[in-house]
Amino acid sequence: MVKLDGKLVASEVKSRVKAEVSELTKKYGRPPGLSVVLVGDDPASKVYVKNKEKAADFVGIKGMVHRLPETASQEEVAAIVDQLNGDDTVDAILVQLPLPKHLNEEELLDRILPSKDADGLHPVSVGAAFSNRWAPLPCTPHGVIEMLKYYDVGLEGKRAVVVGRSQIVGKPMAMLLLNENATVTICHSRTKDLKQELLRAEVIVAAAGKPELITKDMVTPGTVVVDVGIHRKGDGKLCGDVAAEVGEVASMLSPVPGGVGPMTIAMLLQNTLDLFRNSNIN
Ligand code: NDP
Repeated sequence: MVKLDGKLVASEVKSRVKAEVSELTKKYGRPPGLSVVLVGDDPASKVYVKNKEKAADFVGIKGMVHRLPETASQEEVAAIVDQLNGDDTVDAILVQLPLPKHLNEEELLDRILPSKDADGLHPVSVGAAFSNRWAPLPCTPHGVIEMLKYYDVGLEGKRAVVVGRSQIVGKPMAMLLLNENATVTICHSRTKDLKQELLRAEVIVAAAGKPELITKDMVTPGTVVVDVGIHRKGDGKLCGDVAAEVGEVASMLSPVPGGVGPMTIAMLLQNTLDLFRNSNIN
């Protein structure tokens, strides 16, 4: 079984981005700017944001975090987004999810200018990507495709099954697989027989958010399996949506941690670079 090493592929992507950032910083007289809006004290979000800051710094992107208290109002968060929209040194804006429950997530994401949409979640970006025009792509599914390409997994004509249909992972994942000419099935919580669907797959992308949902008996030998899920178990260790025993039958499997997670951050840097390039061309 080949391990789909997200750390390795992410470091390749970061080296590529770093070289291009250095070149364009000289050309345009300033580095790309990525602003992250973090509301509240969610411990996981704090770790993710710190990792994004570190990664931005590593490749020469000017990362800035705008921290607001858990009690921040819709108007206060919106005011920060508006300010960043108007700041010419900010090329990419990301509102860290999840937001505290009292905030309207959709309204805040829609407020980000599509030309600064770091996460590719704005409806304009989603629509453009669906109609095969350029758009920043949602970082996690984009990272999965990048990883599969690195390992030469030919997707053309393959039966790919995506488990999950969220706006952030499942739906864009299915679209990107379709763009690679895979034959795509999307499964979700109402799917009648998940095992039957999975047994037909040649490529599985698991993004159900259910710890160790996919077990060995649900996977045909030789299948390529990408595990997007991240969960902390009772003993403090991390696991994915795919049980470790799947490694006994899969031809390739992404580990948790060290699989899709690092790719998500690498693709955020790639999006920031692309938006920076676009803003200087336009
Ligand atoms: P959501 O909870 O938003 O979506 C989960 C999806 O899985 C839903 O569409 C749901 O169906 C479906 N689902 C739930 N249970 C089952 C089941 N038993 N069988 C089939 N489908 C099921 O999660 P996200 O998409 O945001 O995230 C998925 C996982 O990926 C999480 O573990 C998350 O932590 C992780 N993640 C990891 C990232 C990374 O960088 N590695 C980045 C983003 C997420 P329905 O629509 O019917 O409810």
